[in-house]
Amino acid sequence: MAILNIINVNDDKENGTLRKKSRPVEQINARILQLLDDMKDTLRAANGIGLAAPQVGVLRRVVVVDNGEKILELINPEIVKTEGEQTGFEACLSVPGKYGTVKRPMRVTVKALDRNGNEFTVTGEELTARAFCHEIDHLNGVLYTDLASEVLDQSEVEEDK
Ligand code: ZN
Repeated sequence: MAILNIINVNDDKENGTLRKKSRPVEQINARILQLLDDMKDTLRAANGIGLAAPQVGVLRRVVVVDNGEKILELINPEIVKTEGEQTGFEACLSVPGKYGTVKRPMRVTVKALDRNGNEFTVTGEELTARAFCHEIDHLNGVLYTDLASEVLDQSEVEEDK
């Protein structure tokens, strides 16, 4: 197992890794399988809900999302259906100590490849739907702070409770 370094937006230069568009995975080889395993270890260690490959410096379309039951591995994920709307707090392992309010669909269906190269679809609601959108945005160089109506320090959010 390996815990990867998560790029902090403050250390990422302008137009750096977090802002680049990731390329599709063409061949699911040993490197991609290792990346999936390491990303899952890293997500668990960080107590996160989702992680995208560019956050660990790999510009490939790979994300992992914890849907509360297990950590889903999504290779070349695409959103194929959205329903409803939700507005709520969002945070990012690459933007530590911050939260923002972002409007997202309530229900999101994603099509992706699994580690065996088989296509599957998975639907998530609420937090999982939010995570699918957030992680796939990372593959396109988009951060939630681009979409948030406001971005707050964690300490400010805690004061509001
Ligand atoms: Zn993020």
